[in-house]
Parts: sequence; structure tokens; C-alpha cells
Amino acid sequence: MVVLEKAPAKINLSLDVLHKRNDGFHEVEMVMTTVDLADRIELKLLPYDKIKVESESRFVPNDERNLAYRAAKLMKDHFKIKKGVRIFIEKNIPVAAGLAGGSSDAAAVLRGVNKLWKIGASLDELAELGAKIGSDVSFCVYGGTALAKGRGEQILELPAPPPCWVVLAKPAIGVSTQTVYQKLNIKQAEHPDTQSMIAALEEQSFEKICAQVGNTLEGVTTRLHPEVNQIKEKMQQAGADAVLMSGSGPTVFALVAQDGRVQRIYNSLKGFCPEVYIVRMLGSRENT
Ligand code: ATP
Repeated sequence: MVVLEKAPAKINLSLDVLHKRNDGFHEVEMVMTTVDLADRIELKLLPYDKIKVESESRFVPNDERNLAYRAAKLMKDHFKIKKGVRIFIEKNIPVAAGLAGGSSDAAAVLRGVNKLWKIGASLDELAELGAKIGSDVSFCVYGGTALAKGRGEQILELPAPPPCWVVLAKPAIGVSTQTVYQKLNIKQAEHPDTQSMIAALEEQSFEKICAQVGNTLEGVTTRLHPEVNQIKEKMQQAGADAVLMSGSGPTVFALVAQDGRVQRIYNSLKGFCPEVYIVRMLGSRENT
């Protein structure tokens, strides 16, 4: 038996860091939405009790360090499963890019082995389990558009943004989320207005969404990697409606309403940035 799962990337329309908690995690408020750049996860039932991970990407480990492996192990342990799985990951999402590629792979494995091993857990149960793997995994279990609170594991579904183009550009650097948080000065950093972003989504106002994009981590990553600002400037000059760094970076995205401008923005980045993608937002959970 084989199960296929799509593992889409996410972007942060807004990301606010409120404070550092006593348990060491940061309290966040993130408005996230999935886009149609996705890894493909193929799960095959093994006739013996083992988890195998395979991927052709040289950027991800093929052992128990892979978040996909950890997801399958968690499901085995939690539901006391004695079956095995071979996980093949076709890696299309850039790694360590702020696009939650690893978290989305883990979420896809939670959903996939739930079917493969006929466990019958609800998405809510999978999202709760996923929080043990990483802060973005709960959101990725559902996909669509949501507000994530707490350390990212409290998910409140939001209306899908009005359809638009998204241009993603990743410079040739990886960013460690941990380092960015360590260097963040919460008091001095800029903070987006999460409630206004939610209101803009509820109003379905593309202009207001564009006006409210903001990311508390952007200043830190930009100081470490000035390329991020250069990409933002190029996108703005080429006519983007909004530009922002996603997650802890370094990927920058542009929101673009007009078909005619998308190719111009893509071309302005191609040659400057090794990885540039034109994608659509997936919008709601049903499309993810
Ligand atoms: P986020 O936006 O959630 O902070 P990210 O996009 O910045 O995530 P990932 O691509 O998820 O980062 O990778 C972060 C680290 O996780 C990398 O160092 C990578 O080696 C490791 N990793 C483990 N499993 C995977 C996987 N299946 N895909 C990608 N990275 C993985």
C-alpha cells in the first residue's frame, strides 16, 4: 500500500514575537498561509517494524534527525503501532529558508501514516502531537490560512486571502531560527499589528493585507544578511504590492495582484538570487 501526501510551504503574512517565556520558548502571534510550492511525500507500508527515510536532497539527513522520521516515530510510539514505513521525500521547498519545509514534511507524515496504518486520529489530535516535533508542525497539519499563537501550536483558522501571485526568492544562505531568536531584542524590534491583519483578511481587502504585512524577526536577519534587503528593494522597484521576509528568513516573498507584473518581478530577481519561484496561495484548508 502506498499513500501520497503533499507538503506545502508556508509564508508568514505577519509574525510578532511578544515575549520570552519561562520555559525558554517565545510567545508568538503569526498569520500564516500555505503556498503551492510543495514537497511530495510518498509513504509505503513495510512488512516489518522499521522506519526508513529516503530523499535525493543533499540538504536533509536520511536518518532519525529528519523531521519526517520523527513524525513517524511519534505516531508509532503514541498509538503503539508495530508496522513499518518507507518515507520518500521529493524535496522541492528550499531548506532552512523560513518556509517550514521540514515542519510540513513532518505534518504530511503524520497525516499519511494515520491513513497507512489505519489509525483514524483526527486532524486536531495530529496537530497536538505535531507540536512535540516543532512549533510550525501544528499549522502544517491543517494548512490553509490561520493565526498561530502560543509557541505556534494554538491554531485559529482564518479566511483565505484574496487570490494573488506570490514570488519567492531565497538567497544562497541558510538561516538558523535559533540564532535569529537569540539575537532578537524584543523591545527594540518592530512589531506588526496582528489584529489589523486579521481584520484585513476578514474584510478580504488585498490593499489592507499588503499594508499590514510585518515580521519582528526581519531586522535581525537583515543585519546578519544584507542580501535580504537587496531582494526586498528589487521586488519593490519591479512593482510588488507588498514584500516581506518569511519566518526567520532568508526567503523574501512579494505579493502581486496584477498578472503583468509577476514576470517582471521574477526576472528582476533571476540571476541575482539562485532560487526564485512564482506560486499561488493555496488559501483555505480544503485546497491544501
Ligand atoms: P521554519 O520556517 O519552520 O523555521 P525553515 O524553513 O527555516 O523552517 P527547514 O527547511 O524546516 O527550515 O529546515 C530546518 C532544519 O531542519 C535544517 O537544518 C534541516 O537539516 C533539518 N531538517 C530535518 N528534516 C528536514 C526535512 N524533512 N526537510 C527540511 N529540513 C529538515
